[in-house]
Amino acid sequence: MSGVNDIRSTFLDYFKKNGHEIVPSSPLVPRNDPTLMFTNAGMVQFKNVFTGLEKRPYSTATSSQKCVRAGGKHNDLDNVGYTARHLTFFEMLGNFSFGDYFKENAIELAWKLVTEGFDLPKNRLLVTVYSEDEEAATLWKKIAGFSDDKIIRIPTSDNFWQMGDTGPCGPCSEIFIDQGENVWGGPPGSPEEDGDRFLEFWNLVFMQFEQTEPGVRNPLPRPSIDTGMGLERMACILQGVQSVFDTDLFRTLIGTIEDTMGVKAEGSASHRVIADHLRSSAFLIADGVLPSNEGRGYVLRRIMRRAMRHAQLLGAKEPLVYKLLPTLVQQMGRAYPELVRAEALISETLKLEENRFRKTLERGLSLLSDATTDLSKGDMLDGETAFKLYDTYGFPLDLTQDALRAREIGVDISGFTDAMQRQKAEARSHWAGSGEKATETVWFELREKHGATEFLGYDTETAEGVVQ
Ligand code: ATP
Ligand code: MG
Ligand code: MG
Ligand code: MG
Repeated sequence: MSGVNDIRSTFLDYFKKNGHEIVPSSPLVPRNDPTLMFTNAGMVQFKNVFTGLEKRPYSTATSSQKCVRAGGKHNDLDNVGYTARHLTFFEMLGNFSFGDYFKENAIELAWKLVTEGFDLPKNRLLVTVYSEDEEAATLWKKIAGFSDDKIIRIPTSDNFWQMGDTGPCGPCSEIFIDQGENVWGGPPGSPEEDGDRFLEFWNLVFMQFEQTEPGVRNPLPRPSIDTGMGLERMACILQGVQSVFDTDLFRTLIGTIEDTMGVKAEGSASHRVIADHLRSSAFLIADGVLPSNEGRGYVLRRIMRRAMRHAQLLGAKEPLVYKLLPTLVQQMGRAYPELVRAEALISETLKLEENRFRKTLERGLSLLSDATTDLSKGDMLDGETAFKLYDTYGFPLDLTQDALRAREIGVDISGFTDAMQRQKAEARSHWAGSGEKATETVWFELREKHGATEFLGYDTETAEGVVQ
């Protein structure tokens, strides 16, 4: 049985044997990078090494990086519970070359690990390459013996990675496994690519250009490699299951939810969402994020409150999520000791937030149900009600959207924004008479300038270093 702990060490040991330095995961809150909400790829901690700004005593490295993709550019929050492969928190295994080896070695190393180390059947594997990267296609033919139909040429930005508008960039090549005809979906690039039949599990990025201005790319003198493999997706493949939620770690977490709640999972989105959100909340708190009304803290609050709504759906009458924490710590504490160190803080934070939110959650949900009794599939909840839920009951907008999703009812976002603006204007007019105009003006200007971060998080992040 290949549990996540075995997979992680197989990966790291393999690259160590091949001369790579094992580098620990960096925290989920990126150091010195206010443009990025959370660490969302293995390469984030090496950004400055790739650009040459920072020197390290090694030229090749490997890591297992904690990642969160919720909020910001890569936001998988709405996917969780609804696809078989997306989590908000996951571990990205990676190998990196800083001007050391390049494309041919990277493909060779990956192919050998996948087919020998992990022993995946060659005939079920296929790859994508960037349509202009004939070199990669030729190398895959040579190294893996692939015929042309196993090498899918993709012309879109999905297979061209960029650190930002300028800086290092290059084509990428992704490795997929065919999970069989009985699973719905089509190969990458086809109209059915969103299905689960073809599962992407490893992305190899070939950083070979430097973009100086949009459209102008010069070859890098010492091209580099950045790869990312989803640990939970590899577990899914090796354990012969089709969803990350059916892997050992998630089965254990979901089992604890079933026992605590007395409600069987039977594929329910709620169990999945709670298990995933518990992981992201716990790891974010361990890395110093606390629930708040803006920025990173608000993303955490949104995640926690979403989990709580799903706990409520399962019939929870008292705080539930914190009760699941010991199981998570038991499963992941050895690999991530910060989880053990922060266990009491995480537990208290979860409990406090659940207690604070529970009463308004119940009232808000009943308001929501009254407001939507006459609505049906394709209808919209009015913005006023969505805003009232946000403002009076503490419902993040995405929680309301998630609550209506199963009934295929949308939310009038522009109505929501209008209601918020109206409230701001009203508050402003009340303040006008208070005799503290100078301070107020400054305060409102600041708030205006920074936008409505209280519900959208860092929506404007730009120079993001992520694997595509
Ligand atoms: P997808 O197309 O499935 O959303 P991606 O192309 O966005 O994945 P990359 O940015 O290439 O993903 O990240 C590298 C690897 O990290 C992926 O090949 C996958 O194995 C893993 N990964 C990415 N997003 C997630 C997620 N939300 N949950 C679990 N694993 C993920
Ligand atoms: Mg994605
Ligand atoms: Mg992809
Ligand atoms: Mg990818």
